[in-house]
Amino acid sequence: MPIGSLWWTLRQLPGQNKPEVSSVEIHRVGVVGAGQMGSGIAQVMAQAGLTVLLHDLKPELLERGLASIQRSLLRLAEKGKLSEAPEAIVSRIHLSLDLNELSACELVVEAIVEEEEAKMALFRRLGELLPPEALLASNTSSIPITRLAQASGRPERCVGMHFMNPVPLMELVEVIRGVRTSDETARTVVELARRLGKTPVEVQDYPGFVSNRILMPMINEAIECLREGVATPEAIDTVMRLGMNHPMGPLALADLIGLDTCLAIMEVLHRGLGDKYRPSPLLRKMVEAGRLGRKSGEGFYRYGA
Ligand code: NAD
Repeated sequence: MPIGSLWWTLRQLPGQNKPEVSSVEIHRVGVVGAGQMGSGIAQVMAQAGLTVLLHDLKPELLERGLASIQRSLLRLAEKGKLSEAPEAIVSRIHLSLDLNELSACELVVEAIVEEEEAKMALFRRLGELLPPEALLASNTSSIPITRLAQASGRPERCVGMHFMNPVPLMELVEVIRGVRTSDETARTVVELARRLGKTPVEVQDYPGFVSNRILMPMINEAIECLREGVATPEAIDTVMRLGMNHPMGPLALADLIGLDTCLAIMEVLHRGLGDKYRPSPLLRKMVEAGRLGRKSGEGFYRYGA
């Protein structure tokens, strides 16, 4: 059976479709995880005039996230791309080490590490913590939204909101519907993405969605080319930049995404879609060696401080 019809069948099963949920207006957004994606998401939400509560596990992680937001806003201001002063935007972002403080938010966007157990535990906790009408979104690159939604206890109010890296510059938001995501939830998040100046594209909940199902095997194949000695990292990236008109080569892009995240996504694709998605042994070895790309200072390339 083609995937499209399987999906249709799942959504039509008796009892699968919850009654339509009431709409909620988004004013305050919680963002969990202040890494490269969470800080970018907090920034674009604040740029759109929303109040943001940014949560991470340690003060230094929150401070690092805030510093990266400030740097990004200054660069945008220098280019004349902001309609208000960076300080005014930053004043809408509040840092919090206490997850309970997010209970005042109408929407929480999760952007923690790409580990299913960690995300499931967080969704369980947020499901208990948030008022019943609040929405929960995950920025996961590949973990099934339907599974996270079930863990939250409010599956009709859960959705995937997959931003691209770097968030302030990239236009796409992939909006992923879990099996029980309500139309109203999907509509609210699509409208929010437009309010952020992004272009939302709706997709269904299959491993890697659309973006990473196509992108990650290409990156993995570039790593295999390197492992087999077909060419140097620079040569592989140049072929793809100049030959395919990609703005960045796949190995430089892997360094930007984070090799730990790339491996986690490949594992999900491998488990969900079969052997042709097996992660490259070199990718695995680099992660084991702590060479995670830009975030650790070294991946396929070396980076200064
Ligand atoms: P990152 O490693 O830069 O940041 C993750 C942050 O989450 C860290 O600051 C960490 O301390 C925090 N964290 C971990 N567990 C937590 C918890 N239980 N509660 C609160 N904070 C916690 O990772 P990232 O690159 O920002 O990726 C975050 C998510 O976004 C992942 O799901 C990833 O797959 C997805 N994503 C990444 C990219 C990318 O290019 N890196 C693109 C799209 C989506």
